[in-house]
Amino acid sequence: MKALSKQPEPQALVTHGPTWTADYVAASGLSAREKKKFEHWGHPEIREALTQETNGRCAYCEAHIGHVAYPHVEHILPKALRADLAHDWHNLTSACEVCNKAKSDYWDPTHAVLNPYTDNVESRVIFWGDLVDWVAGDEQAEVTIKKLKLNRFDLADRRRARLLEVREMLERWATSQGAKRTVLAESIRLDAADGDFTRAVTAFLSSQGFPLSDADEDAA
Ligand SMILES: [Zn+2]
Repeated sequence: MKALSKQPEPQALVTHGPTWTADYVAASGLSAREKKKFEHWGHPEIREALTQETNGRCAYCEAHIGHVAYPHVEHILPKALRADLAHDWHNLTSACEVCNKAKSDYWDPTHAVLNPYTDNVESRVIFWGDLVDWVAGDEQAEVTIKKLKLNRFDLADRRRARLLEVREMLERWATSQGAKRTVLAESIRLDAADGDFTRAVTAFLSSQGFPLSDADEDAA
């Protein structure tokens, strides 16, 4: 789980958000089917803004969400409990289908799933190779990892495959010199930031003594 920053609210939500919210709250007593026509969080502008904000990845597990499959517009506080926040930009993110379903309508105010925008997740959820772990005693981080099943087999498997690719790049970098070494270091940094599973990759690179910033490289 990677720290995320909210980007500007999409225009469609700025314009229609208040009406959509009022209508959706008023529709609370209706059946799921009848409520459908009051659901606007799947608006293309909202999807597009969330895809940019999350770099096309699940806000929880950091897996790439394919271009063919629609990412799920995820309500950080479940819409079933907070109809008033169902069209609130700060309550929306993008998640893969597995995380979206795993979280579902779970809500426990003292053990909420960590919010990647506000909960300092990078110091609370830590990575050891392909394994995700919580800082000892951090029950909220523990609940987050267990609830979202962030160590599920297929996901850990994909993280491992990714780390093996990174290790190959790292070996090329470690055995090269001069300008080539600088270029390889830069491409490893770009790949870590933009590629899949940034947190697992940067933790791995750091454990291998790789300079994660230019400043580190100068110091090394
Ligand atoms: Zn996910």
